[in-house]
Amino acid sequence: MRFTNLFIPTLREDPAEAEVISHILMVRAGLIRKLAAGIYSYLPLGLRVLRKVENIIRQEMNRAGAQEILMPAAQPAELWRESGRWDKYGPELWRIKDRHNHDYCLAPTHEEVVTDIIRREIRSYRDLPFNLYQVQTKFRDEIRPRFGLMRGREFIMKDAYSFDRDDAGADVSYRAMYEAYRRIFARCGLKFSAVEADTGAIGGSFSHEFMVLAETGEEAVVSCPACGYAANTEKAEIRPLDQTIPDQGAVLTRILTPEVRTIAQLSSFLGVSPREIVKTIIYKTDDAPVAVLVRGDHEVNAIKLKNVLGGSEADLADPDLIQELTGAPVGFSGPVGLKVKILADQALLAMSRLVTGANERDYHLIGVVPGRDFSPEGYYDLRLAQPGDPCPRCQAGLQLTRGIEVGHTFKLGTKYSEPMQATYLDEQGRDRPIVMGCYGIGVGRTAAAAIEQNHDAEGIIWPVPLAPFEAVVLPLQVQDEAVRDAAEKLYNSLLNQGVETLLDDRDERPGIKFKDADLIGFPFRLAVSRKTLAQNKVEFKERRDAETRLFDLAEAPILVRERRDSLLIRLD
Ligand code: ATP
Ligand code: MG
Repeated sequence: MRFTNLFIPTLREDPAEAEVISHILMVRAGLIRKLAAGIYSYLPLGLRVLRKVENIIRQEMNRAGAQEILMPAAQPAELWRESGRWDKYGPELWRIKDRHNHDYCLAPTHEEVVTDIIRREIRSYRDLPFNLYQVQTKFRDEIRPRFGLMRGREFIMKDAYSFDRDDAGADVSYRAMYEAYRRIFARCGLKFSAVEADTGAIGGSFSHEFMVLAETGEEAVVSCPACGYAANTEKAEIRPLDQTIPDQGAVLTRILTPEVRTIAQLSSFLGVSPREIVKTIIYKTDDAPVAVLVRGDHEVNAIKLKNVLGGSEADLADPDLIQELTGAPVGFSGPVGLKVKILADQALLAMSRLVTGANERDYHLIGVVPGRDFSPEGYYDLRLAQPGDPCPRCQAGLQLTRGIEVGHTFKLGTKYSEPMQATYLDEQGRDRPIVMGCYGIGVGRTAAAAIEQNHDAEGIIWPVPLAPFEAVVLPLQVQDEAVRDAAEKLYNSLLNQGVETLLDDRDERPGIKFKDADLIGFPFRLAVSRKTLAQNKVEFKERRDAETRLFDLAEAPILVRERRDSLLIRLD
């Protein structure tokens, strides 16, 4: 391909609204353009990258035995009412009406439609198992669309759905997808980690998130350097501490603490460690409010709380409600005398006496003893994991890293097949629900994550498997016929070697060509100039390296092809 034939609108300046590097570079390198919040067009280079990701995904899904289909984005509300998600999904579900005033949505995911397809066709155990997938446009009216392709309102996802006779079969299907996902992200040339995750709104019995590791990631991941355990902080189990005996001799004392509201303030005011203080946090739930107790240096984990509450939403109470329930403003809540259901984090079992709020403005209590001065309804694992926490599997200290969630696998079980009556007849002629799994990969988000992980001050550094072109040939003086001819010849030889090459045939200064090549991030750059030609050479540089080398013009295409082959990730 020639630069002059391609639409590559590169920009010198950072776009104003872009906050993360992948977004900035995708816009500057001319890969994408914004139409509306979270809605983007893919320009030629952007589409080439997207297709690379999709091709790897398709190859690995096919290899794992999944079959490609394509389902509609526009879906009737009736199906979503059947699964119960028309009401449950909330404002992220993009709802529309047709001309007859019938409710539809633009689908954020396809469990309903795929379940509807198979329930009409599958009759017998002989029809199972199988796996259907698609690469298709999804719509989610995200509350905060941002970071370019990372969190769009319209985006491309690969979603797959497995159908099995029983749980054991579903586990085999899940494992196959898990392996396919590992192969996909490895073949994309990305550093990633598969972590145990919460099943969240989609539900189901277990799930993994595939995280591309990058400092800018939205997700916090804890991992164990000793045994390899990895989980997102929402899911990470906390190993219970050894329990202690409550200090019945402690004297419950009310202490004046004027304007002392935060753990840090209280800790320095009283001269006690945050580990001796207990935070009391009031939540509104679907029914009565609850108070959650965690140690001063810990944070409540909203997902664990929701699970303990049996799936009820839990939102922080507003100051008025806190005043009404505790009799005090924010910052002075405590469990003693509180007429609200109390849930305590299990870490409190290892505390013999506590410092808490007094439910009275400007007062705290010391010498509070659980069981004597207040009684929680129960002790649960309610907090977020922190670096240094003992690994739940092997007790080594957990480390905290950040990641971008690019893929998600769920074992769904019968969550959709039961309400939607997707059943089959087993060998004994009994009607049984089909056991399902679902598996998603954000295609655009994967491309963006690759940039978050691979860039420098000049621009993108594409991993070879995802690069829009593997090599760029730069004739530095296009006016000079000899330079032009040598570059053309080199370009054609590279194509003959099967190297995806772009010829920068623009009549531009060398500085501009170098800058654009670095910005777009082609893995290999070959510059032909009068100077190199005088020695019958071409200047070769890898985007990732600082140094340049001179290759013989005749040998360069083979050397580049060999280097390319060594960087394309091949798995057995
Ligand atoms: P997140 O927690 O980031 O919102 P999710 O859990 O809602 O993600 P899934 O429903 O599991 O995501 O979707 C599967 C995959 O689709 C995700 O792993 C991610 O790669 C991608 N994805 C989800 N939401 C978006 C979005 N708004 N824009 C781009 N990609 C997305
Ligand atoms: Mg989401």
